[in-house]
Amino acid sequence: MLLLVMGNNILKNQVFEDDRVFEIEGDWLHFQCSHGCHNERYSWAELAHVMAQEQIDGKVPLELIPKCSKCGSPMIPNMAAGSHFIPKIKIQENYKKFLQENHEKNIVILELGIGWKNQLIKAPFMELVAKEPNATYITINLGEIYILDNIKDKSFGINGSLDKVLHDIRKCIELIN
Ligand SMILES: [Zn+2]
Repeated sequence: MLLLVMGNNILKNQVFEDDRVFEIEGDWLHFQCSHGCHNERYSWAELAHVMAQEQIDGKVPLELIPKCSKCGSPMIPNMAAGSHFIPKIKIQENYKKFLQENHEKNIVILELGIGWKNQLIKAPFMELVAKEPNATYITINLGEIYILDNIKDKSFGINGSLDKVLHDIRKCIELIN
């Protein structure tokens, strides 16, 4: 079983179905109420174009910031910062179910482009590798390889740019086959 960990959600909708993507850091392509008064998340793709056109010296005019339809508070990007973050509950449940169903099975956690400072993403996956007896952790990043001592025996760190490393891995697989 492969658990793919990436730091950038730009390509997610083009590569993976939305209900198969668990975004620990949130989803900046959606807005939520800044006070978290209700659990709805709203796409702001169309508004983003208007904001980009109307910005002045890199700042968006305040009147373009949408207000919450329930409480009137400003809307903010759906990012995991502060106590009002609204996660995708269904996706969280899917992730927990995935972990339960694959407990003690062979799991590869492939982490692409996550810097060592990003413990919001790295820490839970390294913890998972430590707990799961048959898990393997592979981290690929340019200049920043960080692996906890307690999982070093079941980990691989590859220092390099993703485009080159992934290309080289593909070449190796082709040679084997
Ligand atoms: Zn609200």
